[in-house]
Amino acid sequence: MTQLEAARKGIVTREMKIVADNEGLNVEFIQKGLADGTIVIPANIKHTNLTPYGIGKGLSTKVNANIGTSSDFGSLETELQKMQIAIDCKAHSLMDLSTGGDISGIRKAIMSRCPLPVGTVPVYQACVAAANREGAMVKMTAEDLFEAIQSHIDDGVDFITVHCGITQSSIARLKQQKRVADIVSRGGAFLTGWILYHQKENPLYEQYDRLLEMAKKYDVTLSLGDGMRPGCLADATDRAQIQELLILGELVQRAQEAGVQVMVEGPGHVPLNQIETNIKIQKALCKDAPFYVLGPLVTDIAAGYDHITSAIGGAIAGAAGADFLCYVTPAEHLSLPDPEDVKQGVMASRIAAHAADIVKGVKGAKEWDLEMSKARKKLDWEAQARLSIDPELSRKVHAKHATSGKACSMCGGFCAMEVVEKYLGVAAPRC
Ligand code: SF4
Repeated sequence: MTQLEAARKGIVTREMKIVADNEGLNVEFIQKGLADGTIVIPANIKHTNLTPYGIGKGLSTKVNANIGTSSDFGSLETELQKMQIAIDCKAHSLMDLSTGGDISGIRKAIMSRCPLPVGTVPVYQACVAAANREGAMVKMTAEDLFEAIQSHIDDGVDFITVHCGITQSSIARLKQQKRVADIVSRGGAFLTGWILYHQKENPLYEQYDRLLEMAKKYDVTLSLGDGMRPGCLADATDRAQIQELLILGELVQRAQEAGVQVMVEGPGHVPLNQIETNIKIQKALCKDAPFYVLGPLVTDIAAGYDHITSAIGGAIAGAAGADFLCYVTPAEHLSLPDPEDVKQGVMASRIAAHAADIVKGVKGAKEWDLEMSKARKKLDWEAQARLSIDPELSRKVHAKHATSGKACSMCGGFCAMEVVEKYLGVAAPRC
């Protein structure tokens, strides 16, 4: 029985209780959200060492970290190092997007060690196997694709990205649109190539009921991929993107009717002033299903700093109702991320998620900021470090230019906090 089916039957599962405790909410709220399809708990019953998280309406905004090899770089050792950094930096989930080396071995190693919900994109492995076997990704058969999905499910993967909305109709819309960057989603590109080469419909769309049955067996959450996500500001919120979203809205309904947990992936590169509209359209078309945004990146020109451009977009998206932020690292658009990039990406996304949570009224969010403000007023450096999102960095930077007094080296003897306390007689509040 899936978490969704259990919730509809009035059953409270262990996972629902853990999520309720983590969020500081009562379990009935979690159960209702699951039953309504506005909350998911990605938890494959075969992922036995899982600490589950809830994603969706009324919950704190979650952060995903992508890791994985490429065809040229990466090793099991490096990917496990990236996994550990993501866990240490408090990401809420991990996606293994490996396309090089022993893809199955890397996934199994991650699954056996990772307590976070793990997601994958099975079409990558099916296409890579076809390219290795027959010299071209498009030689993949529909059966190859479903076999890859089954192997990921059997390994205990908690959510899978499936680009079911890349169809002959969305490709026709794309052609008429005449985009600047066409398709930037890897899975979207693979399936578009396959559909055009074979002149057939996407197997994930055509055999969606089969996919639902497979997902349901071990309660794998479907993450409906945004293969048509805009890859540059000029393509944002265009007809191809919305055509795919219309299809995804229908597929959300079919998944929920079948008792399968489902969330929806979203853009991409989006100008600041279109982000809220994107969230509202997605929520309206997908009946408030959890929304998993990739960024969004608010400008195209900041390569090397795209963890920042995506954190700006992620904060606005989260405040407008996005539930799940996929991190972007400083290596985005440039190279495969290394372990330090993973750290920078997770921290930037966590800041965005927390900024959103303050606006969403998530329990404990604004209280955290208040505690920090009181510690600042008291010039209590240890409390400030402890309350920082990155305590180690906070201590390190503060110690870099040590002072003899209580104030830090920024203003030294002209510390505003000390001046005000001395002349206004305003005592620092007690934390
Ligand atoms: S010295 Fe300046 S920056 Fe440092 S605590 Fe005082 S007011 Fe803040």
